[in-house]
Amino acid sequence: MSDRIHNFSAGPATLPVELLEKAQSEFLNYGGAGMALMEMSHRSKEFISVIESAESDVRELLNISDDYAVLFLQGGASLQFSMVPQNLFVSGKPVLAVNTGSWTKKAIKEMKREGDVAIIGSSDDRNFSYIPKIEASEYQKEGSFVYIASNNTIFGTQWESFPDTASPLVADMSSDILSRPFDINKFGLVFAGAQKNLGPSGVTLVIIRKDLAERASENLPTMMQYRTHIDGKSLYNTPPTFGIYMIGLMLQWIKSKGGLSGIESLNNEKAALLYDAIDSSDFYYNPTQKDSRSLMNVVFRVSGDNEELEALFVKEATAAGLSGLKGHRSVGGLRASIYNSQRKESVQALVDFMQKFELEHKNEAVSQSQRTA
Ligand SMILES: *Cc1c(COP(=O)(O)O)cnc(C)c1O
Repeated sequence: MSDRIHNFSAGPATLPVELLEKAQSEFLNYGGAGMALMEMSHRSKEFISVIESAESDVRELLNISDDYAVLFLQGGASLQFSMVPQNLFVSGKPVLAVNTGSWTKKAIKEMKREGDVAIIGSSDDRNFSYIPKIEASEYQKEGSFVYIASNNTIFGTQWESFPDTASPLVADMSSDILSRPFDINKFGLVFAGAQKNLGPSGVTLVIIRKDLAERASENLPTMMQYRTHIDGKSLYNTPPTFGIYMIGLMLQWIKSKGGLSGIESLNNEKAALLYDAIDSSDFYYNPTQKDSRSLMNVVFRVSGDNEELEALFVKEATAAGLSGLKGHRSVGGLRASIYNSQRKESVQALVDFMQKFELEHKNEAVSQSQRTA
C-alpha cells in the first residue's frame, strides 16, 4: 500500500498492513454470517471462537499453565494501577516498588491510596535514564507484591531480565508485551494496554496467577475484582469485541513470525539499526545508559539538546512521510517507537532521513552546543 507512511507513534501505534487488510476483507460480512463482527452478540458462537482462540494463542506464545488466567479487560493499563493494589494488597505488607519514570510514578500514586508503598529502587537521580540495579535482598523483603514497569515508554529504558522476588512480581508490560520471550512463572500478574504491541486501544491484557485473585475482599465493586473476570472468562459484561478480534489477528501474525523468539530477533535487528546510527554520529545522542536501552522506544536528541533543530527535525520528517517522532511532551527530544509491528524498512527510512538531516544541519548543531557549553 503505497499511500501508507512510516508511523513511529508511541501508541496507539502502527499495525501490520496485512492484518488491516484481513480485517477490512472480513469487515462487512464476518465469516459468512451476513453481519460485521462488531454487530454480533459477544455470546455468539463466532465471537466466542474469536476470544477463545486469542486466549489460547496468548497461552501458547508464553507457555502459560492453568495456574494462570488470561483476561481481556477494559480501562487501559491505567485502571490496573488501581485494580492491582485493590485486589493484591495484604494488610500490613507494603508494596515494594521500583520507580523508573512517569508510568511507575502514576501507578505508585494510585497504589498509595490503598496502602503503604516502599520504594526499593529508583532512577530518579539521573532523570530515569537507567534501570536501577538493586540488592537481591531488597527483593526478598516481605511485601504484598513487587511492582515494576518492564519497559519505560517515555524514557526509553527496559529491564533486560527480571528479578527473583519473595512476594509476587507484578509488571506493567504495556509497551513491550509479547516483544520477546519471558518466563511467566516469575510473575504473579502482568498487564498491558493493547495499543502498543498488541492491537488497537480499548483492551487490556491481564495475566494473573489465579490464587492471587482470592486475596480481594468480596466488598470490592464487582467489576474491580479479578475473580469476576476469571469466573466470567472476560465476558462478565460486554467486552470490546472488535479490539479482541484485532488482537487475535495480531497473535496469529506473531506466530507466523516464529513466535516470541522470531519476533525478538526482528525487534533486535530494528533496534540495532537505529542505535548504531545514533552511536556512530556526533550529531545525535541517546540519553539512556547502554545496558538499559529499550528495544521498543528509542529516544534520541540532537547534540547540545538543540530544541530548534529538534522541532525542525520533526517538521521535515513529517513532510518526508515519517510521523510520530516527537519525544513525549514531558521530556522533549525525539523518540521513535519501533514495536512488534514496525517494519525494518521504516526504521531504515528513518536512519536515511537522520543522515540526510545531519548533513544539512551539522554546523548549526555545533554552534548551539558551543553556545550552551
Ligand atoms: C501507554 C502506557 C500506559 C497507559 O496505558 P493506557 O492504556 O492509556 O492506560 C501505562 N504504562 C505504560 C508502560 C505505557 O506505555
